[in-house]
Amino acid sequence: MTSPKNGNKPTVKHPAGIQLKMSTLLDEKKIQGRVKEMGEEITKLCKKEDLIAVCVLKGSFMFYADLIRNIDADVRLDFIGCSSYGNATQSSGEVKMTLDLTQGIEGKNVLLVEDIVDSGLTMSFITKTLQARNPKKILSASLLFKPEALKVDYKPDFVGFEIGNEFVVGYGLDYQGYYRNLPYVAVVESLN
Ligand code: 5GP
Repeated sequence: MTSPKNGNKPTVKHPAGIQLKMSTLLDEKKIQGRVKEMGEEITKLCKKEDLIAVCVLKGSFMFYADLIRNIDADVRLDFIGCSSYGNATQSSGEVKMTLDLTQGIEGKNVLLVEDIVDSGLTMSFITKTLQARNPKKILSASLLFKPEALKVDYKPDFVGFEIGNEFVVGYGLDYQGYYRNLPYVAVVESLN
């Protein structure tokens, strides 16, 4: 697998033999700079509070690892798994929980950490599910937000970057399970 360089639009050979055209949307420096700022914003709000930071698997693992290192508060970690996409680039609209938290959240402050909010269905589903467990407060941080793609009324409390209605990969986000390890975010321009 080759990787696109900044500003280039190479055809990338996908491991399954498909030719992908990608272009870099957010390079590593830009992402790291914004993640640091987001950590500082969250610290300001949560400095004196105990926080359970929840990584929404799988796509947010890289953002989560970088974000929590930039939060200067008493943080405990947990993980939740949801799936809505399968192998397609369009949401099926159906959200399923594939992994639940390992700790109770009643009376606790929860920070949900997501890679991208597209239709908003996943985050509304998770928020509703966790709200029923009576936490003190639920906040959310998403690296990417596609306002034009929203199908429900949802906005994360902390947003890294607003992007257009495009399919992106890298920095945790996949296409058919690949490209999660890219340190930057690229737009997939064509899939043939
Ligand atoms: P939503 O429920 O908001 O439509 O979508 C949330 C999930 O869909 C994300 O956690 C992510 O897994 C997937 N998703 C949405 N948009 C994209 C995208 O542009 N690229 C990739 N790779 N996944 C996306």
